[in-house]
Amino acid sequence: MQDIKNFIGGKLQNPIDGSWLDNYNPAKGEVYSRIPASNSKDVEQAVEEAKNAFPVWSQFTIEQRSKTLHEIADKIEENLIAFAEAESLDNGKPLSLALAIDIPRAISNFRFYAQAITQFASKSHETVGTNSINFTLKKPLGIVGCISPWNLPLYLFSWKIAPALAAGNCVVAKPSEVTPMTAYLLSEICKETSLPEGVLNIVHGTGPDTGQAIVEHPQIKAISFTGGTKTGEMIARTAAPMFKKLSLELGGKNPNLIFADCDYDKMLQTTIKSSFANQGQICLCGSRIFVEESMYEQFKTDFVAEVKKLKVGPPSEASSNLGALVSKEHLEKVYKYIQDAPQQDATILCGGNKVEVEDHEQGYYLEPTVIEVKSNRCALNQQEIFGPVVTLMPFSSEKEALALANDVRYGLSATVWTNDLNRTMRLSNQLEAGIVWVNTWLNRDLRTPFGGVKDSGVGREGGFEALEFFTEPKNICIQYAAE
Ligand code: NAD
Repeated sequence: MQDIKNFIGGKLQNPIDGSWLDNYNPAKGEVYSRIPASNSKDVEQAVEEAKNAFPVWSQFTIEQRSKTLHEIADKIEENLIAFAEAESLDNGKPLSLALAIDIPRAISNFRFYAQAITQFASKSHETVGTNSINFTLKKPLGIVGCISPWNLPLYLFSWKIAPALAAGNCVVAKPSEVTPMTAYLLSEICKETSLPEGVLNIVHGTGPDTGQAIVEHPQIKAISFTGGTKTGEMIARTAAPMFKKLSLELGGKNPNLIFADCDYDKMLQTTIKSSFANQGQICLCGSRIFVEESMYEQFKTDFVAEVKKLKVGPPSEASSNLGALVSKEHLEKVYKYIQDAPQQDATILCGGNKVEVEDHEQGYYLEPTVIEVKSNRCALNQQEIFGPVVTLMPFSSEKEALALANDVRYGLSATVWTNDLNRTMRLSNQLEAGIVWVNTWLNRDLRTPFGGVKDSGVGREGGFEALEFFTEPKNICIQYAAE
């Protein structure tokens, strides 16, 4: 059984107190490695190393930092298959998805910020009338904390680490304890790059023990967090008295509004993806599907027929459309929502059962499930399930569709299917969401801001927004003597 190590001060090391946690392969329901159950002592050591490294790293020129980030991207790329296999094994996601999306996106994250930092220039201007010139520098914050979830492990971990490092900070990072493997591989390859020791520290362990110690540490100036809304709330409470900067990317319950005038075939195929990609475990999945009344029955028949064709199977097999859910605990949580559906006056149209996969009988598999609901106020439509479960409901007018879409505590993304330009404009403007996709889904340009409104979070990642977050503007005003 493999031991995953912490990466502190450039060295791979065991947890100081010698405690470990089991790490499961969700496809088989078996323990296959163990990770450090780190606590505040390990975090303290990581902060100390980061503190020592900061004077060195913050004095690297932007070109040097950019080069280091490119080196990390190159190393991941050289080991693409090993990273993708590790991600699939750890998370249960199809290997094909890890190869096509997760790991290439992690590479892009490092490359994007290697480039973006070279464009992120300080500003200066002359204040006419007072004979003064203002410079506004973008100073790194110092030591920052990055905490990420299990659904897109390396993809989201690197989405934080890359801009934090590019901006000149030292990092203490914690991946999810459920999917630690690719963060561990990242620490191994960082040893082969020009990244100075102590600039990136990766500490493994649980949220309450390791994550909390990062958030509580007074020398960590900012926390970039992606995860559940409840956890985000706890982090905000802990961080507030220390006035830490916070970027919180939280849960979603995203509407998918389908109008009768859309491009039907494209909508149907994309809606299958937006419902069940990564077993529905993407914060951007469109889990509430609302369909215009005039085509509701047609859509319901076609959608259910397509969903029934999806194959649940071992993540390593190319024919598997859905792999395993990430953990037994998560499988049971999602399954409970399905079991409770009849009590909510909801009807299961297809799926709804756990799946026994040959040679993987202990794995955490669930059928893709479509449920017809009568009201948007039921738990199925109001709570984030974060699994292969979507609901269907008809609407009779654009006004009603908008009201249904916005009638939820979350506001991460929304998708609209229509060919009516005016409707596109009206809805894009009025939907309560950080991201609106029209006639597409998960179409991402890394330059654009990413994040949610309402209970989906605070702050934005991506583009220059992340570099703004990981820097502090410092204004310098110099007055010169008049001639
Ligand atoms: P989670 O909140 O349970 O855990 C996320 C991370 O926070 C993990 O590393 C965990 O160990 C850590 N953590 C837990 N308690 C902590 C605490 N008290 N202090 C500090 N750290 C703590 O979330 P999860 O189950 O890993 O991920 C699923 C959630 O993430 C879903 O709600 C999903 O919508 C959300 N998510 C959001 C986005 C986004 O961009 N908005 C992207 C992906 C996932």
